[in-house]
Amino acid sequence: MKGVALVTGASRGIGRATALQLAKDGFAVAVHCLHSIDEAEAVCHQIRANGKQAQTYLCDVADTAAVHRMVQDIQLALGPITALVNNAGIAQQKLFTDITPEEWHRMMAVHVDGIYNTCHAVLPEMIRNHAGTIVNVSSMWGQTGGSCEVHYSTAKAAVIGFTKALAKEVGPAGIRVNCVAPGVIKTDMMAGFDEETLSALAEETPLCRLGTPEDVANAVSFLVSEQAGFITGQVLAPNGGTVI
Ligand code: NAD
Repeated sequence: MKGVALVTGASRGIGRATALQLAKDGFAVAVHCLHSIDEAEAVCHQIRANGKQAQTYLCDVADTAAVHRMVQDIQLALGPITALVNNAGIAQQKLFTDITPEEWHRMMAVHVDGIYNTCHAVLPEMIRNHAGTIVNVSSMWGQTGGSCEVHYSTAKAAVIGFTKALAKEVGPAGIRVNCVAPGVIKTDMMAGFDEETLSALAEETPLCRLGTPEDVANAVSFLVSEQAGFITGQVLAPNGGTVI
């Protein structure tokens, strides 16, 4: 099953690598971003240079109306969405007692409301077509809990629960829903960590390195593919063995 893939937060990092990989896999790609139109356009340019279709879309995944408008626009321009990758996300390191109500709610809005919004917008068409696959990007902190990342860990654990429940509900409609739970991946999200901390994190990883965006993109590509046709409701963890 190929068709149209929507990758959220695809202007950089894991989302960018995933958009490029899914284009290689044969999908037309809706490259979504929040603000970074130039970076998203560059991703589209790279995809088109390889003879595949791509288009940029901007919106805040926490904005329900905007997400529905975006999905309608994608369907009109590229066709029905057959693969949805919910990758957009934010991170913050803070003591729990310092997390403000606004920061707490924003973390939930981006990660939890975000996947509610995109799935709600995309699923009616997938159900009508009896075809589609969704991959949600969680995190190892959603599996184990991360100190000084209580709001992030909570949101990413919710992504896992969401994935499992939705997989059961839409499986009979021929739709698979899975999740990736990456370990430490070297992207802009890790920019706040100094080299010493990053080296220590790499040393603590059984495979002795940090992950790359492509490590995660490859896992997503597999879950989206027909090779994963009997896999749903699962958490695949490109984490170098950090959580086993
Ligand atoms: P990143 O910061 O490079 O990319 C995140 C993307 O999401 C950006 O393009 C950003 O603009 C977009 N985004 C953020 N808030 C948004 C919103 N409200 N609406 C639309 N787009 C929004 O980080 P990344 O490392 O590539 O992260 C991608 C995903 O992987 C995130 O969900 C993140 O939580 C998850 N993750 C990252 C790591 C890591 O170590 N880097 C580990 C586990 C999970």
